[in-house]
Amino acid sequence: MHNDTERVLLTEQEIAARVRQLGEEISRDYAGKEPLVVGILKGAVIFMADLVRCLSIPVRMDFMAVSSYGASSQSSGVVRILKDLEHNIGGMDVLLVEDIVDTGLTLNYLRENLLTRGPASLKICTLLDKPGRRRVNVPVDYNGFIIPDEFVVGYGLDYNGRYRHLRDIMILKREVYTAKEDNENCPADDGS
Ligand code: 5GP
Ligand code: MG
Ligand code: MG
Repeated sequence: MHNDTERVLLTEQEIAARVRQLGEEISRDYAGKEPLVVGILKGAVIFMADLVRCLSIPVRMDFMAVSSYGASSQSSGVVRILKDLEHNIGGMDVLLVEDIVDTGLTLNYLRENLLTRGPASLKICTLLDKPGRRRVNVPVDYNGFIIPDEFVVGYGLDYNGRYRHLRDIMILKREVYTAKEDNENCPADDGS
């Protein structure tokens, strides 16, 4: 286990099993369709890479990169688009894939933004859900795990850009981010 982590919350094997189930469910729901799977960089890339390979339907892939306005750990709800989609999603079935829904502000903003572009349908898939901190009720169609209000890293999720490569999802030691909070603002870095 990594030195900066408190304990493993979800093992590689638990994650893989759940991702397979999500893949089956999504494949059933989209039978006969070819959705555009949209990953939110960078946190969702590892989850999305595994998820699309558990699908039995054809898909296309695209990505967006976003960052919250301001450096504070309290998300303002206003999201800046750092990289937009390459596809025009008008008329497409879009499946938005995100690592975690916490306050819901990021996904809520993205959802409303994408809906203005006229997709045939828009659904949301998140690996993790921290319902304890929700501020906006964003409809999540597919969720891997509900987790407690702890700051987690690994399997794509970072703290200041680190730990994304870890295979398990782990709870970060509180001292790792409280020690830095004087000069660096938040557990979440830019670029989700
Ligand atoms: P929301 O807008 O739902 O509050 O924030 C979602 C974003 O906050 C996620 O995409 C992620 O970047 C970050 N985030 C929220 N909780 C965690 C967490 O426990 N660990 C990590 N690494 N990022 C988190
Ligand atoms: Mg982050
Ligand atoms: Mg994210």
